[in-house]
Amino acid sequence: MMIDKLLRCFIVKILMISFLCAGFCNGIEKKSSIDKEKLKKRVELFLKKDNVTRRRNVEDVFVLAEIYEKEGNDKDAMFLYQEGLRVNSWRLDYQLKLAQLMYKYGDKKQAVEKVKIVCQYTEDEELLIKAEEFLSNMGIQPVKSINKTKGKLIENPEMIIVPIGKVNKRLLLEVKDKLQEKMGISYSIMEKEINPGKFDRSYLDKYTIDTKRKLLVSFLRLIPEQNERFKELENQGQFNASRLISELKEKYIIEEGSKLEGYLGITREDIFSGNSNFLFGWAEKNYGVMSYHRFLAEFNREPPNRTRLCNRMVKQGISSSFFILGIPRCTNPTCIRAYPHNLTEHDQKSNELCSWCKEQLKLYTGD
Ligand SMILES: [Zn+2]
Repeated sequence: MMIDKLLRCFIVKILMISFLCAGFCNGIEKKSSIDKEKLKKRVELFLKKDNVTRRRNVEDVFVLAEIYEKEGNDKDAMFLYQEGLRVNSWRLDYQLKLAQLMYKYGDKKQAVEKVKIVCQYTEDEELLIKAEEFLSNMGIQPVKSINKTKGKLIENPEMIIVPIGKVNKRLLLEVKDKLQEKMGISYSIMEKEINPGKFDRSYLDKYTIDTKRKLLVSFLRLIPEQNERFKELENQGQFNASRLISELKEKYIIEEGSKLEGYLGITREDIFSGNSNFLFGWAEKNYGVMSYHRFLAEFNREPPNRTRLCNRMVKQGISSSFFILGIPRCTNPTCIRAYPHNLTEHDQKSNELCSWCKEQLKLYTGD
């Protein structure tokens, strides 16, 4: 009886860990190892299915479309991009590819419409640049163009944004402009990002917190497919926000009497501190760090929306900026600075400061 119970418990744990890994490692199948004939058969089947089943298997269609495009078979590529986008129209990378083919074959109106949508919604800097280049080659100005000289290091800013690792710099410019507008103080962005080094905690570390789990993982690693998944988890992880703040402090010293109030590091990667599972931001007087990892559509499996991403970042940026200025958190639940337990609470906060926070900011800026 006891052995039965132990065995059941063991199997449940294996299934749970496999499930967790599967969630993290979606798309692990390497494009290079794709068998085109098998893929074609799967796509043929796809085309006979209902929309729900199609949506689940849509990746195959896009991959085959890309293969056709590379082979110069534009007609079949366009057909498959269209079929894929019918059930997942938010794949903006493929919207751009289809638009480029449409333009090539004379459908300028639809192509432009598609590319404008990509420009407006994408959260990916490279895709945005490609889409804008495409529009500009057609002699069309993007929907919302950002002044690229804006945001760079100006003389005597009150707050300096420091990119940590590879970040979306165009997005940072949008965030910086909004922060400046809402806070009424001057921000600028450091031209060069700092290198944060290796992750302080991998996602695998998070799941092997005790000896039992470690043993279980070592056992599962004997299975090649599971081992691949664990390798992926080892390569993804989080930075320790306290360490990043210490590095900012060491690198950038604020001189006595300077107008500069502090440094706000921004990273795309996930952050934590102490025993916390994750953090949106972490700050103290003069120095702070925030992460937009958990604000991304990709992380939350939402359709991309750069305006939403920017708003989420501005809310966090304001919270962090207040701490950098040395103003403690207020107690108003609807204030933009209220402590959010999760993303839903973060999204639910208003976009405005409460009267107490406004007063504190006025005292600081002297307005
Ligand atoms: Zn407040």
